[in-house]
Amino acid sequence: SNIVVAIDGYSSCGKSTLAKALAKKLHFIYVDSGAMYRAVALYFIRNNVDLNNHDQVVKALEHIHLNFHSRDYQTHITLNDEEVSAEIRQMPVSDKVSAVAAIREVRQEMVRQQQRMGKSKNIVMDGRDIGTVVFPNAQVKLFMTADPKIRAERRYKELLPTNPDMTLEDVFENLAHRDYADTTREESPLTRADDAIILDNTDLTPEEQLQFALDLVKP
Ligand code: C5P
Repeated sequence: SNIVVAIDGYSSCGKSTLAKALAKKLHFIYVDSGAMYRAVALYFIRNNVDLNNHDQVVKALEHIHLNFHSRDYQTHITLNDEEVSAEIRQMPVSDKVSAVAAIREVRQEMVRQQQRMGKSKNIVMDGRDIGTVVFPNAQVKLFMTADPKIRAERRYKELLPTNPDMTLEDVFENLAHRDYADTTREESPLTRADDAIILDNTDLTPEEQLQFALDLVKP
């Protein structure tokens, strides 16, 4: 049957970098589950959806259609046929996404779509609940961590070209805020699956991380 590689962990731990490299090497499909929550958050922001209004949330979800286009293993996601891959990385979305991702109805719908994507294809999916909730039977599960300061510096470098006003402090605070929200929420909180292998990449190069993961997929 098809193979699923689940990569979970804190914000900006290099999950997507590793997931992309792994998918490319193995010719698997890469799915960035965080992009889905980000696109939902963007829709909620644009349409002033009140997160505490259950009916509004459910109605909004019915109007959201997400699609991935895998070109060269980058994340290309459309929200109702509009390319939003760049906009979902901006701070307004990053600040709101964890609150949106804490809503039960949002998670149920995203998990359903994610499970469908991994039903018959070999995939690498990264996120917060992939090894615990989305694919509890995944053949390979990784849980990534890294020093919070290193994580903020990496993400800052990545975002600076398109966000010249942003400071390292802003990024650090956003990561801390999301980690806190993601680990303490009621609905599928971020936690390591019992059978997930921990990968602390604070001192590892991307190549070393890829080799580590490849050894797990092909023992
Ligand atoms: O992976 P990324 O950092 O882009 O995810 C953005 C946010 O989406 C996370 O901080 C988390 O709140 C939410 N998320 C989630 N479950 C996932 C993936 C992302 O709750 N599987």
